[in-house]
Amino acid sequence: MFEVSERLKNLPPYLFAEIDRKKKKLISEGHDIIDFGIGDPDLPTPENIVEAMKKGVGNASYHRYPIGKGMADFRKAISEYYRENCQVEIDPDSEVCVLIGSKEGIAHFPWAFLNRGDITLVPEPCYPVYHIGTRLSEGTPFFMPLKSEKGFLPDLGSIPSGAAEKARIMYLNYPNNPTAAFATRDFLMEAISFCKKHGIILAYDAAYSEIYFEEKPVSFLSLPGAKDVGIEFNSLSKPFNMTGWRAGWACGNASLVAGLAKIKENIDSGTFEAVQFSGVEALRNGRKSTE
Ligand SMILES: *Cc1c(COP(=O)(O)O)cnc(C)c1O
Repeated sequence: MFEVSERLKNLPPYLFAEIDRKKKKLISEGHDIIDFGIGDPDLPTPENIVEAMKKGVGNASYHRYPIGKGMADFRKAISEYYRENCQVEIDPDSEVCVLIGSKEGIAHFPWAFLNRGDITLVPEPCYPVYHIGTRLSEGTPFFMPLKSEKGFLPDLGSIPSGAAEKARIMYLNYPNNPTAAFATRDFLMEAISFCKKHGIILAYDAAYSEIYFEEKPVSFLSLPGAKDVGIEFNSLSKPFNMTGWRAGWACGNASLVAGLAKIKENIDSGTFEAVQFSGVEALRNGRKSTE
C-alpha cells in the first residue's frame, strides 16, 4: 500500500461527500430522509442556456484548449453584468478570470498567496473549501465564529492581534451559506478597512448574490476600497441551475486575479469554451427565465 502525503492525511473528510455517504446509507436501509446536504438546485437549466450549449458543442473552434483567463466575450458579459447589477466597473482584460466552478478558484486561490504557516481568517460555520484550500497550501485557518446575536457577521474586534498580523486572507460569504444571513454595508466597510490596516486579502464568496427575496444583497465590489483588497468569487451554478456545468469566475483586484490565473494556467487549461459560450447566454438572457 502507498501512504498518502501528510498534506492529505491532515485533511478532514470533505463535509458534503460525508453527508452524501450517510444519506445513501440511510436510503439503502429504507429510511425516508430530508436532504440538508449540498445545495444543488433540483430544477433543470433554463432552455435558452441548454440551446446555447447545443450550438456551442457543434462549433469546432470551441473544441480546442481554452487556455488563458477565459473567452473575451464571456469576460465582457461578466463585466456588463457587474455594471448593470452592481454599478461597478470591472475591466474584462485584467480584472476577471473564468473558473471551472467557483469552488475550483476558491480552492486554488491560497496557492497563489499563502506561504507555509500563514493564517487565513475563516468564518465558522462555513463552506468547507475556505479552510481546506488553506490546509492544502500549508496555511492555518483561524476560525471567526458567526453568532446569531451578531446577525451571523464575524466580530472583527475579537480577532487577536497576533492572528490579524499573521493573516494573509480573510474569507467572507454573503448571502451566507449556511445561515442565509446578509451582510450590512457597514460591516463590509469595516471588513475592508480591517483588511487594509493589516495587509489582508479579502476573498469574497458571492455564490448566492442572486438568491434573495425583495431586498437585494449589498454588492461587495461596489463598495469604496473593495477592489484595493478584494477578489470576488461568483458562479453560474446557483442562479441558473447550472451546478453540473462547472462555470464560475473570480473578479476584482487585478494583481489577485493575475496570481490566481497563473496558478490555474499551470494546473488546468480552462473551462470548455462551449460552456463559456452558454455562460454568455445565461448572463445576458438567462435572468428572465429564473426570476
Ligand atoms: C455552491 C457554492 C459554491 C461553489 O459553487 P460552484 O458550483 O463551484 O461554482 C461556492 N460557495 C458557496 C458558499 C456555495 O454554496
